[in-house]
Amino acid sequence: MADHRAERITNLVSPLRVEPGTRVRLPDDFDPGYRAGISKKKDGVALLRRGTELLADYQRRLAAQDTYGVLVCLQALDAGGKDGTIRHVMSGINPQGVRVVGFKVPSEEELDHDYLWRYARHLPRRGEIGIFNRSHYEEVLVVRVHPENLKRQKLPDAARRPDVWERRYREINDWERYLTDNGFKIVKLFLNLSKEEQRVRFLKRIDVPERNWKFSPADVRERARWDDYQRAFSQMLSATSTPWAPWYVIPADHKWFARLCAAAVLADTLIDIDPQYPHVSDRTRQELAEVKRELERQAPEGALADPYAASAAGSTEQDPKAKKSEKGKKGKKGQRGEK
Ligand code: AMP
Ligand code: MG
Repeated sequence: MADHRAERITNLVSPLRVEPGTRVRLPDDFDPGYRAGISKKKDGVALLRRGTELLADYQRRLAAQDTYGVLVCLQALDAGGKDGTIRHVMSGINPQGVRVVGFKVPSEEELDHDYLWRYARHLPRRGEIGIFNRSHYEEVLVVRVHPENLKRQKLPDAARRPDVWERRYREINDWERYLTDNGFKIVKLFLNLSKEEQRVRFLKRIDVPERNWKFSPADVRERARWDDYQRAFSQMLSATSTPWAPWYVIPADHKWFARLCAAAVLADTLIDIDPQYPHVSDRTRQELAEVKRELERQAPEGALADPYAASAAGSTEQDPKAKKSEKGKKGKKGQRGEK
């Protein structure tokens, strides 16, 4: 990993971080239209492509090491671009190493448990990247803006006093600290959309028939509570950006830039973890060398002893007879396969 690349990623993500202990006031403190001086979408898209290659490499190492897990929490207002961000940032990553979970209105069963229960059930394993499309933060966002949600949670009286939000911030911070201490890094992304850009995206969802399914009249009711959400997000960001799990406010009015930033924050976290392929002992290496010799002895007549090593060494000098017999084998296999 070239150091200048890590430095560029850090430079991109630093201004987005909510410094723990600072008080955030939206919409004033973070500009949804910010682009870090990248004026052309084309340049941003090219950077994202390189970023996703880097992520794929780190994800392979994370899985091989099997010690750390990563949880990405995505929060946004409606039409903030959560789905597209997941699709683009995770493109190129082995699907076996990633688990995406979306959280909707809680079910009866979920309401029968403490409020963190349903999120804890879907945490990633070691070696995995888990993505929460909406997360435990809904418990201090939609539940706060619409108190009827809190009523449905069957809480004892003492747990629904007005200090409930402060208490939840503390409980969430403690829970995240516990997870971090035990090898699970938490990446918290808030896609910060402007009210005008939301209006435009809603209209697009109405105007384009293929997008109608993405729009619900409830979205307009939520939009009417815009200021309440901005307040709830501001307080949440102020209270739950911690040294072990800081928030990143992602400028979301330009989708390509939001995706680039999300990839950069995830990359920054993985660079920090610096997962390594497991160390192979001298003894195992010796055993591998013995097996290699045996496999080489098994090469059929005319075949290279170790075709992989030959091509890795850039060898083009292949025995013409070997090529012929390879061709012959393929032909036979194809005929058998057609039956
Ligand atoms: P969507 O992500 O558009 O499919 O919508 C999911 C809906 O579930 C949103 O309206 C969220 O506000 C709602 N939701 C998610 N989590 C909770 C929660 N803990 N309590 C109440 N509503 C929730
Ligand atoms: Mg929706």
